[in-house]
Amino acid sequence: MRFDIMTLFTSLVETVLSESIIGRARAAGLVEIRTHDIRDYSENKHRRVDDTPYGGGMGMLMSPVPIYNCYNAVLETMKDKPDTKRRVIYMSPQGQVLTQDKAKELLEYDNIIILCGHYEGVDQRIIDEIVDEEISIGDYVLTGGELPACILVDCISRMIDGVLADKECYELESIASGMLEYPQYTRPYDFRGRTVPDVLLSGHHANIESWRQEKALEKTRKKRPDLLNEDKGKEK
Ligand code: SAM
Repeated sequence: MRFDIMTLFTSLVETVLSESIIGRARAAGLVEIRTHDIRDYSENKHRRVDDTPYGGGMGMLMSPVPIYNCYNAVLETMKDKPDTKRRVIYMSPQGQVLTQDKAKELLEYDNIIILCGHYEGVDQRIIDEIVDEEISIGDYVLTGGELPACILVDCISRMIDGVLADKECYELESIASGMLEYPQYTRPYDFRGRTVPDVLLSGHHANIESWRQEKALEKTRKKRPDLLNEDKGKEK
């Protein structure tokens, strides 16, 4: 899969997406991530990319022209691949909130172009012109779409074949599995008087599995009861 991220702060995105598992996946060619500086596509001699909003109001708004030029330049790099299945996403607090299911759904695309807003956001007309969908990372507002874009790319990329050791790594985790994950322990056996549950040292796989299921359920009921459908039947 190829991601193209259109932003005013390429180094911010590059820094985050060059490290750890995603950085290694890029190096191995499992995922391609390109960042594009919208400022390079400004038609203004001072490389200006924003302006005051019509009708007045606080702050500056990103102009549609440099974004549109940037978008076309990105498309140009793929003109020899007309069958590319593509989705254009604007990171926005007004979008649908990102979930694991949403990220999974986006795996079907060959190319995801992400627009990061900044300042007061972007001119509505660029959204109407090029954007297929708006995605939010939660009900709060950040200064820019760069961190949200990194979150989206990370969330999708770790489900691409080969990025993690095994599909189980993400399918059995919290949320994806429909529950929260059971508590996990590693060495040392005794940490400040808190010891590892005996069952995990028993070597009895069936007992370990049922203990984990029981603990996962217990945790989910306590912290995220909304993930369980237990109350739905009672409502009827
Ligand atoms: N004025 C805009 C509004 O009220 O909808 C908010 C603009 S915000 C300060 C600047 C940029 O940050 C947005 O264009 C968007 O790209 C990004 N952003 C902020 N919060 C976000 C969130 N929760 N999810 C995704 N992107 C977000």
